[in-house]
Amino acid sequence: MNTFVVGGGVIGLAVAWRAQRSGLTVTLIDPEPASKASHASAGMLPGGSAQLYGQPDLLSLCADSRNLIPSFVAELEEFASAGYRRDGVLDAAFDEDAFQALDRQQSLQESVGVRTERLTPEECRKLQPAFAPVLGGLLSPDDGSVDPRTFTAALSTAFQALGGTLIRRRVTRITDHEVTLDNGDTAAFDRVVLAAGCWTHRIEGLPPGTVPEIRPVRGQIVRLQSDTPLLNLTARANIRGTSLYLVPRLDGELAIGGTYEDGGYDEAPTAEGTRELLTRAAEVIPGVGALRFREISVGLRPGSPDGLPLIGATAVPDVYLASGHYRMGVQLAPVTAEIITALLTDTAPPAVRASGLPGTPVDPPRGG
Ligand code: FAD
Repeated sequence: MNTFVVGGGVIGLAVAWRAQRSGLTVTLIDPEPASKASHASAGMLPGGSAQLYGQPDLLSLCADSRNLIPSFVAELEEFASAGYRRDGVLDAAFDEDAFQALDRQQSLQESVGVRTERLTPEECRKLQPAFAPVLGGLLSPDDGSVDPRTFTAALSTAFQALGGTLIRRRVTRITDHEVTLDNGDTAAFDRVVLAAGCWTHRIEGLPPGTVPEIRPVRGQIVRLQSDTPLLNLTARANIRGTSLYLVPRLDGELAIGGTYEDGGYDEAPTAEGTRELLTRAAEVIPGVGALRFREISVGLRPGSPDGLPLIGATAVPDVYLASGHYRMGVQLAPVTAEIITALLTDTAPPAVRASGLPGTPVDPPRGG
């Protein structure tokens, strides 16, 4: 079965690798794989998030993906390092409201089998001595993060090592079992998976409505550097109703993210984005100003009409969709790849979610 995957962010790469591994002949098409939202991402893999209240389908999809991560990473690491850390995620409460919210957060996480521990202020400080005074915390000791750049590089290596083909071109048009590339070439497929992030609906040729409009939600993220890591483990600093992601890497990098902006397709970082993130970070990590500035980057999160990922078959035969993962694409990559691969190999349980369902506009939550 000649299968095309259009778009090589974390979603397209994960799908391409798992589909190739299952015995399909896969061609991934992307002018610059892993360069967009997946390149900017913090790579946090939390065991749950306050934004999942009232969204049982998404909560259980996240739980399924979380359960897949260890084996997914272990198989990936047969090819290359995945940049995975499983040394805990700390939700730290820096004000009374955030402290009160820890109970709800804990019951949400435990409802999907995530092990949690409540921490006193002293225990939080012991884990993260660089923090400003906290009121308390919630530790998920079995969760962690990946470095998305290492992770996507490993997916690409694994995919190609198994014989997958990468075409560095943009797809401009899809018609009956054929794609047109930006150099005018055409190529025939048996099945195609559309995974082009917030650009997915812009590919021409399919009947109107086949792909719902995917809204770009801009996120800026700052990367700082120190000789030794300033934080010991991944954290969310919860304060004034917002959650700031703090993701330390073993090489001393600290990713601080991210903003939520309706900025269309503009991918230029701004001084205001940098200021906002550094100001918020300094409030919870007083010593952060001493770190070296490494980078500010922008990613466009793909937001579906109702905020839920679009994973499954479309109304057009042999055209599948894996997009709209919004703020959770890295953590949902394993389950997305498993669902799509099962559909492509006709071994699927029903798709978690077919595309094209009507929905309400995405209301971006803060943080992440
Ligand atoms: P993208 O990564 O945007 O990839 C789309 C790909 O499609 C690109 O490579 C592009 O070149 C290609 N493409 C576009 N058009 C075409 C075409 N016509 N033909 C061929 N190829 C095409 N998620 C988490 O799980 N944890 C986090 O901690 C986290 N933090 C984040 C922090 C920030 C600041 C941002 C911006 C996002 C964060 N996310 C996080 C969200 C996550 O990054 C996204 O959900 C995920 O990267 C989406 O992946 P994707 O493959 O769908 O899209």
